[in-house]
Amino acid sequence: MSHRPYVIDTMISAKAIAARIEDLATEIGSEFSDTNKLVVVGLLRGSFVFIADLVRELDLPVEVDFLEASSYGDGMESSREVRILKDLRGQIEGRDVLVVEDIVDTGHTLAHVTKFLLNRKPARLKSIALLDKPARREVDFKADWTGFEIPDEFVVGYGIDFAQRNRNLPFIGNVRFTDDNSC
Ligand code: 5GP
Ligand code: MG
Ligand code: MG
Repeated sequence: MSHRPYVIDTMISAKAIAARIEDLATEIGSEFSDTNKLVVVGLLRGSFVFIADLVRELDLPVEVDFLEASSYGDGMESSREVRILKDLRGQIEGRDVLVVEDIVDTGHTLAHVTKFLLNRKPARLKSIALLDKPARREVDFKADWTGFEIPDEFVVGYGIDFAQRNRNLPFIGNVRFTDDNSC
C-alpha cells in the first residue's frame, strides 16, 4: 500500500474506449449471432465498468454473471497464484460464454479462469480483455479480443484500481509518482 504522492496521466480517453467497444461489440455480435443466450462473465472487480458498457453495445440476448479471482491484492505486483474467491451463480454447461477481463498482464489469471470454466463444459468459451500488456506475459495466453495493447505501465481508472481507489475515473490513466526523481 503506497502513501506516496502521485498524479494520473491520461493514457486512453473515455471517447477512445467507447469507440473501441462499439467495434468489439460488432465482432462479438457476429461470432455469437447464432446464440440463444450468451452468458457474459465479468471478472470482479476490475471489469465492472467495461462489462457494463460492453453488454449495452451487444445486440444479443445476454445473461450477466460474475466471478472473482484473486490476483494483485492491494499491491502493484501479481501474486501468480490464482484462486477463485467467488464462483458463478448460474450454470454454464452447454452454454455460450464470454469472459470479460480488465487486463491481461502475466496471463496467469485468465489462463486459470479459462481452464476452470472449461471444466464445466460450456458449448463455446471466448474471452475479451480491455487491455493487454504483452511485454509482461509469463504464460502463453491471448484473449480472443483485446481492446488496446499497452506498454508495461501500471494503469488505473475505468474500473481498475490502485489500492481500491480511482476505479471511478472515466478514462484509463497511468500512475506517476511525483516524489520519485530517479527517472
Ligand atoms: P495477470 O494474472 O494477467 O498477471 O493479471 C491480471 C490482473 O492483474 C488484472 O485482472 C488486474 O486485476 C491486475 N493488473 C494487471 N495490470 C494492472 C495494472 O496496471 N493496474 C491494476 N490496477 N491492476 C493490474
Ligand atoms: Mg482483474
Ligand atoms: Mg486489483
